[in-house]
Amino acid sequence: MRVTPYGAAQTVTGSCHLLEEGEYKLLLDCGAYQGAEDDRNAEPFGFEPGAIDAVVISHAHNDHIGRLPLLLRRGYRGRVYLSEPTAKFLPVILEDSLRLMREELERLERKGKPTPPVLWDEQDLSELYRRLEPVPLYQDLAFGPLTVRLRGAGHLPGSAFIDVRAQGKHFIFSGDLGHRRKEVLPDPDYPTAADLVLCEGTYGDRPHRPFADTIREFSEILNTHLGQGGKVFIPSFALERTQEVLFYLRELESQKAIPSVPVYVDSPMAEQISEIYPGVKSYFSTEVQALFNQGLDPFRPGQYSHTRSVEDSKALNRLNGPLIIIAGSGMLSGGRILHHLALGLPGAQNAVVITGYQPRGGLGQLLIEGAESLRIFGETVPVRAKTYTLGGFSGHAGQDELLDWLGGERRIALVHGEPDKLQILQQELSKRGQTAWLAEWGKAIEV
Ligand SMILES: [Zn+2]
Repeated sequence: MRVTPYGAAQTVTGSCHLLEEGEYKLLLDCGAYQGAEDDRNAEPFGFEPGAIDAVVISHAHNDHIGRLPLLLRRGYRGRVYLSEPTAKFLPVILEDSLRLMREELERLERKGKPTPPVLWDEQDLSELYRRLEPVPLYQDLAFGPLTVRLRGAGHLPGSAFIDVRAQGKHFIFSGDLGHRRKEVLPDPDYPTAADLVLCEGTYGDRPHRPFADTIREFSEILNTHLGQGGKVFIPSFALERTQEVLFYLRELESQKAIPSVPVYVDSPMAEQISEIYPGVKSYFSTEVQALFNQGLDPFRPGQYSHTRSVEDSKALNRLNGPLIIIAGSGMLSGGRILHHLALGLPGAQNAVVITGYQPRGGLGQLLIEGAESLRIFGETVPVRAKTYTLGGFSGHAGQDELLDWLGGERRIALVHGEPDKLQILQQELSKRGQTAWLAEWGKAIEV
């Protein structure tokens, strides 16, 4: 058996790995490159899509599924195997991604700039939907000479790491591993000794602070600013981060640790995801399942509402605090959150709570660095609101958790991380006598 990375090699996006046993070819993930690297999506895959026998997907994030429609357009004719929740989230994620691609093309056209060719469209998407094959976690599945099993990764509902056996050899692909000890999802399962582990290292350079500290700080921030009649803005990703924030708002409210105030989710995509959750409740922690079973929605604080139209979204601007607004985009690269910040940042009673990664030079990073004013929609906006970073909400394992998950594994190829972070993780693993290295694009590794 051998594996060759064709994405997420010394970078955090574009997860795509080819596993071969004899003539059989299994593709693990087929994700999009994102952010500064997104022009790499148009490049050839590095392998022949028509020669792939089957595709198995670890989870529903765009950097793990985003090139599936393109794989079909370029000749793949097999099926795509994934967990039931992943199959339900996939259309929401990919239809949003198609909409964003279209908007970008229109923007370029309006400016009279050259437009790149469309990579894929609705037809490729509907072809993909016909080929989705939901499979259960924890069951042996036969793929030609390979025995494949999906096991819980604790990163999203239904997220998996992928365990493959063939001819006495054992290979594990970590997918993305979740942050342990949070209450919404079950903790990641542990791997059993493998001949090779292809492991993510997004936070390979540092541990997260204890999650209980994050929640305590979140509660203090909310009390301070809501107590002053302020508005608390939480830029958030639609899939999982938004619902996790809602879960803790509901929990803090029910413990009377924070006041009950109106909470608005201004993201139709986040609402679409939330509506899928009750239908896949067995993929959540026992605590979340218990709440569902009592007829409660664990992701709805007392005064919850969500917007449907742009008019609903604009109407939020006229409301007075105290209130909480959760809106996209999580990285402040666009979306409705910018309208709320343009109006809210001048108010000293208001707060911005950052719960996810912010790219260098982006608005989120400028806020974290204490910018006194920002340019939003061509206007200069003075910043008097306070910005807080709660990195503990991360959906990824920190360094200590990666080392714990890898246990005594002997051979580890690192992917899905920036090179400097992967190198720090590699050094930590070497200190423990484990052999680890940074996987390279297109370079095959023998299992
Ligand atoms: Zn992910």
